[in-house]
Amino acid sequence: MTCHIDYQAPSSLLEGRVILVTGASTGIGRAAAMAYARHGASLVLIGRSVARLEVVYDAIEAAGGPQPAIFPLNLESATSQDYASLAAHLESEFGRLDGLLHNASVLGERLPVAEADLETWAQVMQVNFTATLGLTQALLPLLARSESASVIFTSSSVGRRGRACWGAYSTSKFATEGLMQILADEHRDGAIRFNSINPGATRTAMRQAAYPDEDPAILRTPEEIMPTYLWLMGNDSATANGEAFDAQPPRH
Ligand code: NDP
Repeated sequence: MTCHIDYQAPSSLLEGRVILVTGASTGIGRAAAMAYARHGASLVLIGRSVARLEVVYDAIEAAGGPQPAIFPLNLESATSQDYASLAAHLESEFGRLDGLLHNASVLGERLPVAEADLETWAQVMQVNFTATLGLTQALLPLLARSESASVIFTSSSVGRRGRACWGAYSTSKFATEGLMQILADEHRDGAIRFNSINPGATRTAMRQAAYPDEDPAILRTPEEIMPTYLWLMGNDSATANGEAFDAQPPRH
């Protein structure tokens, strides 16, 4: 659970690397896409809305980053066919994949288990977990072609300790942590490494939806938690595999 908030990434950390970020249109995913591009990576931006992804595309280009690629995908309805066609597209465009940040998630409803709607629960599991599994599975062959690939799963404090009324979201994050550990154990040679990050309380739309009465000004911004995202994506973390990290120290 080490926190790398003070990590200072060299500007060439991710030069020449191809990195896919899900939920790249806003919040933490957008900040990670921008940070990775600023450190030399070619980004593949995934999200539901082309218009929102285009804004990030333009921001990366305006900042002088390598030209990104946009691939619209709704993870709530995506099928193995969609993941396969994404993999085929990336293979013809880049030939490999060096990094994968699973960031997209939905919050779902905040209710006790006794009152939870099963259909909504399944939708949250689909976006937060099953799509993560499908995407990883389809992209493993491309990741295997990288000299050193890093796959980062996004967890949460409620993915490490259950909390009342966090139902499907919490379950989906526990499942994600489990998948990360299984994959890490299956790839003990370290050619592809799998780890998770708990971003901690961060100033985004999701946090605002979860805590509507909280003053967002007291929270770290997505940009402020990027040191851990950079460290774990680059080769300075080459020996980390199967570990769960925090992007910021716990708040008291
Ligand atoms: P936001 O709600 O701000 O962003 C979520 C992203 O996920 C958006 O880019 C959205 O894209 C994308 N997304 C949502 N549903 C889908 C879908 N069906 N298909 C494709 N993309 C989708 O969330 P945060 O930035 O706050 O969260 C990022 C990650 O960090 C999540 O995994 C979250 O669980 C985790 N986290 C966040 C914390 C926080 O305090 N903010 C704390 C702990 C964990 P679009 O709507 O454009 O399609």
